[in-house]
This record gives sequence, structure tokens and C-alpha cells, in this order.
Amino acid sequence: MIEKSHFLSKKIEELEQKLELLKSVESEEEYFKKMSKKQIAYRKTQLKENKKKSMDTIALWGLYGKRDMDQYKSYIPPIYAATAGAPLKSLEYGKLLLAYEIFDDPNKMYSRIDNITVDHLAHKVASMEGKGIPELTHGLCTSSGMSAIFMATMPFLEVGDTFVAPKLMFGGTFHLFETTYPKMGWKARWVEEPEEPENWRELIDENTKFLYAEFPTNPTLFCPDLSTLSDLAHEFDIPLIVDSTLATPILTRPLEHGADVVVHSATKMMCGSGRAVGGVLVSKEVITTEKKAFKKHFARKVKEGPFRNLGPCMSPYEAKEIWDALNTLKFRVQAASQKAMKVANFLQNHPTIERVNYPGLPSHPQHEIARKLMQVPNGTPTFGNLMSFQIKGGLKAAKRFAQLFDFGVMLTDLGRDYTVWVHPGSTTHAQMSEEERKQAGISGNLIRYSVGLEGTEDVIQALDETLRKL
Ligand code: PLP
Repeated sequence: MIEKSHFLSKKIEELEQKLELLKSVESEEEYFKKMSKKQIAYRKTQLKENKKKSMDTIALWGLYGKRDMDQYKSYIPPIYAATAGAPLKSLEYGKLLLAYEIFDDPNKMYSRIDNITVDHLAHKVASMEGKGIPELTHGLCTSSGMSAIFMATMPFLEVGDTFVAPKLMFGGTFHLFETTYPKMGWKARWVEEPEEPENWRELIDENTKFLYAEFPTNPTLFCPDLSTLSDLAHEFDIPLIVDSTLATPILTRPLEHGADVVVHSATKMMCGSGRAVGGVLVSKEVITTEKKAFKKHFARKVKEGPFRNLGPCMSPYEAKEIWDALNTLKFRVQAASQKAMKVANFLQNHPTIERVNYPGLPSHPQHEIARKLMQVPNGTPTFGNLMSFQIKGGLKAAKRFAQLFDFGVMLTDLGRDYTVWVHPGSTTHAQMSEEERKQAGISGNLIRYSVGLEGTEDVIQALDETLRKL
């Protein structure tokens, strides 16, 4: 008998397995459900195996393995840009696709509901965020960071419900919580002096459905102690939701510190180029919440419900940009963090500077927390590329700085390969009242400064020249 090649033997084996499965089932529905079960089991095994791999490998490959390459005939996830997939094989098949019962088929039915390119990005980020915990993690990509925050929070809330968060946060999130949520009967209870856990505890009432925190906060770089906050949340049977945009999964993985759900604006450092807008939500297999329907597979439940009803889907083109950018995220974060440390040290010692907010400085009030929570995967404390600083001379001096400083780009953006900086008081936080800005730590003389990948000596020279002119 002629010996079959490895290729042919494998093909025969695959066909035999398929035939066996087809013979063993009574109906189409049973067949597809069995297929789907196999696919879900395969992804679970991949997620588990990834926990043993290094972050470098996960950030490159995600869950897109040789099997996917073969299935999609592409060694990188292809861009599935069609709104709908291939012609439906049968009505039964269509029904199961729409019910997310067919898990791993590139024919995802309709792109708002599911898209295979986008799905692979969700798997990759979920795997990065879940690397250090025994539980499995699940991801969902959204059209922006804002919609990820909306998707992570609204499922817990009904009319009359509350949640606790500090005003130290990105201005857009503050507005979502302060002006949009009340229209739906949801109320943020704002915690003052959030470094004190008791101040959070005091605001939790019987209607409180979650605690919410940014780590670190934009633009004041406050670093809450996530372990203490998650213990507190769990004491009340509610989840801790963390916006970890500034840290990225390279520096901080909040699920390792007890958080239940993590959100990201993937628009920022994750996609350093500035060519994509997107968000990602990642949840633990089981989260702490009294809402039974959302306890297991939160990300998937959101996808099946509010996500598909409201339509905040990510475009496959954006998913492709972000997927590619994650390949080099660690190296960009490390390089930018080293540069940021030098810039922060320089600014701290400059006679025109009142204060520098950078978690890497020993003078930062939560420096010790940041040292524990912000580490590249080999354990080296690393503090990211964002800082803010206050200029002596108040608002007038800050405005003059904005007129004169000609390095990088003045933009309401951050986490870019280029240096970008802005005066939050007149841009990102301009819609807040004076009093709200004060509570959010946005003084008139504050500049937000996102260190890019340019030569540090160029940055420092430009800063020095401008600051000396003030
Ligand atoms: N979260 C943080 C910490 C942010 O800085 C931003 C935007 O700057 C967002 C969320 C919102 O992200 P997006 O612009 O992608 O909606």
C-alpha cells in the first residue's frame, strides 16, 4: 500500500471526524450545536494555554493560531469587511448564527452583531488581561472607549440605582455619568478624597450596583489601590469596574487585583499611531454581582443583549489597526515610559514648575501603590507615558505655555507615538463648572503631557526653552 503523505492523512482524519459527527446527530440544529461546543472548547483551551505563555507571545498571536490561518487562508486575521457573510446554508443555520450558537464561523451573519476580525481582537485583549489569573476571561470590542464604558456599566443599572466613583477621571466619562445617566434614572455618587477607602464605603447604599475607577486617572494620574477597592466592592456583592486605558494590559492587569470588569479606550496607547477609534471590555468568567443574569460570561451576555440592541460595534478596519499595534505595545510602552521618567524628573526640578503628577516620581502620593500595580510583565515597575504638570503663575502662565510651546502637537489626545499635550481646563474639561474642575483636580495651570517616542534630549531642550520664556 502506498503510504499517504502527512497532508493527505490529516485530511482523511478530518473528514472521518466530520462524517462521524454527521452520522451521530438527528438534526441540523444538533449538528451545529455540537460543532459550536467543540469550537468553544478549543478557544477555552487556547485561552488556558496562553496563561503559560509570555505577554510578548500573547500580544502577537492572541488566539489566532494555525487552525485559524488554515480556515481563513491568511496568516494574520483577515479584514472581513462585508456587512453579512456567505449565503446562508439553511434557515436553521441562520437562526443559530443570530443566536451566537455558531461560535467560530467567519460567516458571522451581520457585522453589527458579530465580526470575525473584531472578535479576534477581543480574544487577544481578553487573553492579555487574563494572563495572570487562573480564571478565563472574555472580551468585547466596541466602537470607542466611551461605548465600552457604557456597555460595562449600563447592564447593572435600573431606574433609581447608584454607583460610586471619584470625580478624578476623564472629562468625557464624567459627563456621561453626570449628565446622561441621570436622564435614565442612574446616579453617580461622587467620592471625595478617594485615596481613603472609607470615603467610598460611606457612599455605598442598597441601590449601589458597582464601584468605578480609572487606573491611573486622566489627567491627574491618581492611582487608586485596586485590591482595597475590589475587596470593598465584593463585601457588598457588587463588581469593581476599572478603566485601565492609561496603564494598558502591559503595565497593569486590574483583574489580577480583584477587579471584575476592565475597559479600555483602545484609541489611545493600544493604537499608538492615532489611526483608529475603539474600545474593549474584558470580564472574568464569573464576576461579583447580585444581577444573576450577568454573573457568568458578562462580556458575552452584553454582546447578546445591550451591545446588539444599541449597535456600538467596532469597524473591522479599526480592529485590524489595533490588532497590529498590539504587536509592539510592550516595546512602545517601555520606551515611552523611560522617556517619560526623564521628562518628569527634569520638570520636577525646573524652577518654573509647581508640581508634576507622574506615578513614577517618589513624590507622587500613590507612588508605592503604582510600584506594585504598574509593572511590565517581568516585574519591573514602569509608569506609562502620561503625566500632567502645574506651571507657576496660574492660568496666565499655562495659556502662555500653550501659545509658545512648539514641540510635539497640541491636541486633545494622548498615548500617541508623537508627543501630544493640552491644557485640560480649556479643552477636555471645559464643560465642567469651575467647582467641578476643582474637585476633579483640574487647576487652571495644569498641562496634560503625553510623552511620545521622540528623542528625550529634544523634548527636554524644547520644554526648557519655553518654560524659561514664561
Ligand atoms: N477613558 C479614558 C481614560 C480616556 O482618556 C478616554 C479618552 O480620552 C476615554 C476613556 C474615551 O475613549 P474614546 O475617545 O476612545 O471614546
